[in-house]
Amino acid sequence: MSGHVVTIDRIACDGFGTCAQLLPERIILDEWGYPIIDSTPVHGTERQHAKRAVNACPRLALTLQKVHEPEPVRR
Ligand code: SF4
Repeated sequence: MSGHVVTIDRIACDGFGTCAQLLPERIILDEWGYPIIDSTPVHGTERQHAKRAVNACPRLALTLQKVHEPEPVRR
């Protein structure tokens, strides 16, 4: 199974927080206004929201990377 995770280039980020407004379910801001990203893979509608946040970043600091998730263990 695969999903996508949002990653950040902390050098490029200027901390205005547009991403946290567009993906509040995965991004919160620290006390200085810089994003803290939940790196759990996103799927479906959440992935679309993540893509919107990545495309809206004025510093091109966010990326959406494909990751492979382990299959759940069946017993
Ligand atoms: S939108 Fe981009 S530049 Fe702005 S806080 Fe988020 S990652 Fe940083």
